[in-house]
Amino acid sequence: MARKILRINMNELKATYKDIPEKWARWGGRGLTSAIVSDEVDPTCHPLGPNNKLVIAPGWVSGTPAAPSSGRTSFGAKSPLTGTIKESNSGGLSSQKIAKLGLAAIIIEGSPKDGKWYTLHISKDGVKFEDASELLGKGMEEVDKICWEKYPNKPAVIGIGPVGEMKLTNAGISINDPENNPGRYAGRGGLGAVMASRGIKVIVVDDKGGPGVEIANMELFKKGRKKLTSAIMAHDLTKQDGALNLYGTDVLMNIINEAGGLPSRNFSAGQFEGAAKISGEMIAEMVETRHAGKAGHACHPGCIIQCSNIYPDKDGSIIASPIEYETAFALGSNCGIDDLDYVAKMTKECNDLGLDTIEMGNTIAIAMEGGLLEFGDKVGALKLFDE
Ligand code: SF4
Repeated sequence: MARKILRINMNELKATYKDIPEKWARWGGRGLTSAIVSDEVDPTCHPLGPNNKLVIAPGWVSGTPAAPSSGRTSFGAKSPLTGTIKESNSGGLSSQKIAKLGLAAIIIEGSPKDGKWYTLHISKDGVKFEDASELLGKGMEEVDKICWEKYPNKPAVIGIGPVGEMKLTNAGISINDPENNPGRYAGRGGLGAVMASRGIKVIVVDDKGGPGVEIANMELFKKGRKKLTSAIMAHDLTKQDGALNLYGTDVLMNIINEAGGLPSRNFSAGQFEGAAKISGEMIAEMVETRHAGKAGHACHPGCIIQCSNIYPDKDGSIIASPIEYETAFALGSNCGIDDLDYVAKMTKECNDLGLDTIEMGNTIAIAMEGGLLEFGDKVGALKLFDE
């Protein structure tokens, strides 16, 4: 059974399924999204105009039985931020569910003639185009909650926040995690604005009853799976209680600071005196001392590295998930801010509004350099989100 390409035409509100053509048959994930954008999108088109396309593809072994850490979804389009082919990928629930529906990729083209916003519901029974007006203006925390209440089987929710609806070039695409938090992001390149220009607020993916992923040679697959799992579990970076599992990607904070390459105070320095206070080691300490949250969290079922985290507040409630290295430098050291609680609060705002944390942190850093705020003004930086 060949993997399928699901083509969704938003002009006609029509979905068609075709076997993946030979020229793309050996591709998956970012290779496939970039190949499709290269083949089908006019390089001179306006990124937010009618001729751009949003392409979504699971990785090659996503959705197979117990292939470790294989649940990333690739998003591709011509970027409104860079003007070039953009690939941005994320963990969360979507990749395995798309793959288990037998899909190699989803290509979304056109814009609704009626100018309305839509929710796409994708399941084994096909694609439903539903009115999304009740979700407009809502942040992704509320949108994810509404979708899990409305639809059965704890589906993947791929969505844009209010910033995406405004088609801003710092808008990312949110994917919910196993706890239905909106913090997994295809953040880079403004692809949330491309999704908005297709008239889509949310894509809900329910894989229940789907055909699953065909394995051509199960013995060979098992052999490869064992080899990969052993290699991951033997490496100091990726093993259980290894660097990523204990401290997440923010384990890089102290290392890069020591090397002199940490973006600090709007890239004016490569070292930050407060780096240790916003490091992965500090995230783990907060989880331990506050007896809440989680380090070593899996952003999708079956990840054995588990580098994600859920960051707790002083009272044990959850502020945000996850705090990654890039988020910590953008909203932390690059703004001269050395308080993890504030980095987490700003991360929560970004995740809910649909903002890329890197773009937003660096925007605040420029505002600080321009004199709007002092570097290190964490209260003022957080207030900017409301303003
Ligand atoms: S938890 Fe970390 S290692 Fe696992 S899939 Fe998510 S981002 Fe990758």
